[in-house]
Amino acid sequence: MKIRFVGAAHEVTGSCHLVEVGNITFLVDCGMKQGPDIYEEQELDVDASKIDYVLVTHAHIDHSGLLPLLYAHGFRGEIFATTATCNLCDIMLKDSAHIQMSEAEWKNRRARRSGKEEITPLYNMEDAENVLEHFVACDYHKIIDICDELSIRFYDAGHLLGSSSIEVWLKEDGVKKKVVFSGDIGHGNKPLIRDPEFIDEADYVLIESTYGDRVHSFPSDFAKSLAETIQNTLSKGGNLVIPAFSVGRTQELLYFIRRIKEERMLSDMQDFEVYVDSPLSVEATNIFNMNVEDCYDDEALSIVRSGGNPIKFDGLKVSVTPEESKMINMESTPKVIISASGMCEAGRIRHHLKHNLWRSECTILFVGYQVVGTLGHTLLNGAKEVRLFGETINVNARIENMPGISGHADRNMLLEWISKFKSPTKVFVVHGEDGVCDNFAMDIRNMYGFDAYAPYMGDEFDLINGKQTRVGARVVRTKKKTGSKASSNVYARLLSAGKRLLSAIERSEGMANKDLAKFADQINSLVDKWEK
Ligand SMILES: [Zn+2]
Ligand SMILES: [Zn+2]
Repeated sequence: MKIRFVGAAHEVTGSCHLVEVGNITFLVDCGMKQGPDIYEEQELDVDASKIDYVLVTHAHIDHSGLLPLLYAHGFRGEIFATTATCNLCDIMLKDSAHIQMSEAEWKNRRARRSGKEEITPLYNMEDAENVLEHFVACDYHKIIDICDELSIRFYDAGHLLGSSSIEVWLKEDGVKKKVVFSGDIGHGNKPLIRDPEFIDEADYVLIESTYGDRVHSFPSDFAKSLAETIQNTLSKGGNLVIPAFSVGRTQELLYFIRRIKEERMLSDMQDFEVYVDSPLSVEATNIFNMNVEDCYDDEALSIVRSGGNPIKFDGLKVSVTPEESKMINMESTPKVIISASGMCEAGRIRHHLKHNLWRSECTILFVGYQVVGTLGHTLLNGAKEVRLFGETINVNARIENMPGISGHADRNMLLEWISKFKSPTKVFVVHGEDGVCDNFAMDIRNMYGFDAYAPYMGDEFDLINGKQTRVGARVVRTKKKTGSKASSNVYARLLSAGKRLLSAIERSEGMANKDLAKFADQINSLVDKWEK
């Protein structure tokens, strides 16, 4: 009975944990690492054909995005997830396959022109469609006996529609242990979906730590601030353009806009039109509408029960085809346009920026975190002009920032979540930047006396006695900067050499002191040489 940390160990993305119990091997999440230009270099650190099951906490790509690759490498088992997660994975994994294929095609066109080597996409649409056949839709709160060794139960994690924390019961040679995987935990008070649920018993707990070092502060009333921006922009005859992630953030915006209309916050322009222009957003909105009973909070449910829909209102228009999308900027009535991607790196939002950025009466409103290097970040930092579709576009529109409701719990909420456990044997802190996860583990130790530790990639623990059985590489994976794929492959070679050294050190335990001292001297002189 063992757990091995395969992903999201000392980093935020690429969640993946491997558990062995009896003759069964399963994964909890199989996520993609995210960041600029790292997609084609991802690999699976597990033998896919030996995996019997996968449990998926939620549909975000950093938790589900490598499932098609797992299939391509031979996985044929069952994948357990909540019904809403299954629904969302259906659109998100296909969308991800589409992105892999079109990026590879774009890069290969350039490669052919410059005589460079072509790349193959990480996975294709067929892999995504095939792996989707393996999903088993589960209800929240029901114990599911998967096999003799393994039973599970999903609790709401309040982070995204369908998101879950998973209770896992393991049985081996008459010994039973319970492990709880937090998944990503929401902050509570999120529109539409329920607050995170607490669990109080476990032998082992894995907890995320994305914001383990931060306390959130939110605007007191997001709808009111949004109403002011809509009023200021539309009354000048301009459009309000909102870049937003298709799944989650777009539906939250619809919820707030419905409130603005319902509560008549803009009495003189109640009939304003709102366009959702992203096929994925439209599909995701449909999935929200399909999972009302299982996933909505009391407030959203009461709207539904009184015959309404919390993400629908008069004046809401959706566009799916490219022709419908083009029409939005053809006619001149001031309107709200919500489109993806949320950081303006791809998708139809770029067309809306091209048509609206140069107009001083328009506003571009950011409602989510913008990673350094993205067009969204560039605009927020006051760029005077940007390049879009080969054209230079002046930035005359107002650029506003209104961080909404975060998808992740802050430090206080995470501490509250972990504090509910009575006396776990060990707490593993995952899904946090290097430093953040270590500090958060220290806080848990100091505040609650739990044996908390932030594991590294490759670390392995015996779940029967709680002892570490394998030490992973103490190397934090860094994002690829610049340079060719060849140079990063050479770097990977160096990393593997480092891992080999570490395992040689582990095996040397018990050797004669004279040999150990010699080994240590040789390592030190090697490191001295390379650190000069
Ligand atoms: Zn997530
Ligand atoms: Zn995550």
